[in-house]
Amino acid sequence: MACGAVIIISRKVHPDTFRRTRLAVHLRDDFKCQHCGWQPPVPSDYDGRYALSVVTYDADQGKYGCRLLELDHIHPYARGGKFQIGNLQTLCNYCNCSKGDRV
Ligand SMILES: [Zn+2]
Repeated sequence: MACGAVIIISRKVHPDTFRRTRLAVHLRDDFKCQHCGWQPPVPSDYDGRYALSVVTYDADQGKYGCRLLELDHIHPYARGGKFQIGNLQTLCNYCNCSKGDRV
């Protein structure tokens, strides 16, 4: 399981539970990727309803992209990890994609 994990899981968790859990995990992690330390701007009224993101531009390839904060299962969902605050951490999508379903 790779980059689509968060989307798949969000279908199985009530939207308000997902929102509150995302906000709690990001607050605990100071809105920083726990691997690389990347941190997007955080609006003062942010409530976890959407993923924090920024548009990126790769000048070498001439392509636009998106970098965002995601929830990552420390013990992977694909291996039985729960959608609980203690098993979740904040990762950017770059680090989360490279982590995959590894612990
Ligand atoms: Zn990162």
